[in-house]
Amino acid sequence: MTYESHGTPLEEYQLTKADHRGQQGSEDAKRWAAEIIAKKEAEEAADPVLKAGRDEVARRALAMIASWRTPDHELMRWRVRLYCGHIVETQRHAENACPTAHGSSSMKCPECGRDPSYIVAFEPLGLVAEPPKPQAPAAPSAPKRRTRAQLERRLAELEAEVSELRQQSAPSDSKDR
Ligand SMILES: [Zn+2]
Repeated sequence: MTYESHGTPLEEYQLTKADHRGQQGSEDAKRWAAEIIAKKEAEEAADPVLKAGRDEVARRALAMIASWRTPDHELMRWRVRLYCGHIVETQRHAENACPTAHGSSSMKCPECGRDPSYIVAFEPLGLVAEPPKPQAPAAPSAPKRRTRAQLERRLAELEAEVSELRQQSAPSDSKDR
């Protein structure tokens, strides 16, 4: 696995036009997400059954994600420079060659609180923990960790349950179960 660097040394990095566009894009995405959340909250306020269904799905999804915590030896530490100029440390899954992959191109700055603050330069630091020695085989009874694909399938099922709940709670046909 080769990890990329960009804009080193971070201390001397100068913002580019692309960085300004990136910051703008991150802010737009956050505003858009906030609008969607506001819309959902308005729907839920008008529809308690829908709200209960969504809360349950969210609770189960969070429990699932918590059970699937990435082990430290699969996490890479990165030193990143943010749009606001602060240089901070962050972590990403070790499979990513750069910290800006998969839509994670910005973060909240832990120094000044700017949120989002676009990642403009970065360098890899190393894994959070050394990989375990490959000797002790896992106990045969140990539950297998779910793969990401399985989790995504399960989340899709949960979302389907919510839209079903939503139909059940439509005012025109309220039936008990
Ligand atoms: Zn900052």
